[in-house]
Amino acid sequence: MSAARSPIHDEDVYRYLLEVSSRETDVMARLRAATAPRPEAEMQIGPDQAQFMALLVRLMGARRCIEIGTYTGYSALAVAQALPDDGELVACDISRTFTDVGEPFWREAGVAHRIRLKIQPALQTLDELALAESGRRGFDFAFIDADKPNYFAYFEKLLILIRPGGLIAVDNTLGLSRTPVIRMTSENAQAIREFNRHVHRDPRVEIAMLPVGEGLTLLRVVT
Ligand code: SAM
Ligand code: CA
Repeated sequence: MSAARSPIHDEDVYRYLLEVSSRETDVMARLRAATAPRPEAEMQIGPDQAQFMALLVRLMGARRCIEIGTYTGYSALAVAQALPDDGELVACDISRTFTDVGEPFWREAGVAHRIRLKIQPALQTLDELALAESGRRGFDFAFIDADKPNYFAYFEKLLILIRPGGLIAVDNTLGLSRTPVIRMTSENAQAIREFNRHVHRDPRVEIAMLPVGEGLTLLRVVT
């Protein structure tokens, strides 16, 4: 193909991108620094992706959001900061050990009251939300970034909760731990490839797949 390809996976170009566009706040930078020594710190999204997601949330005027996979709370902090003060982010994770790292930073940033943390399998939280909302579809934005074999189940359940015109952002759709999913045979990589194949043709969503981070697929809910 002759179209231009993204050069952002070049280390120097990525550093330059951050140098000329990152506006990471002090509290965001300190949460990233607090996460960095952890062995699984590569699970965290980068500052450019966090800034992009915050921009999307503001652009949409989103008030109610869902995050599936919160880890130490960096992406949640970015989204929560982009919400109006009475907005809410339902943050799903199964590990309080991880989310305990982020909570003091959420408080420090003055957004802890916008984040409703649910520590249990995300599928259960989505079912509970669907019951509580009783068909209202009152959420604007969701970010899927947890266990990859459940991506399709999360997507299906989110379609019951996200309003028409709302957005589902899906992480790691091109790569996992800096390896392209097309070159991996793991269960996680296979699950992502199947998910990608499915949503490509799903008429319920419009799709744009971006080389942001390790691949970010944007799915706009049509109906
Ligand atoms: N979005 C986070 C960030 O940018 O910092 C990173 C999330 S990390 C890639 C994935 C998270 O999903 C982990 O914290 C893990 O505990 C959580 N997780 C794994 N299985 C889950 C499940 N069934 N339900 C909810 N969370 C789950
Ligand atoms: Ca991720």
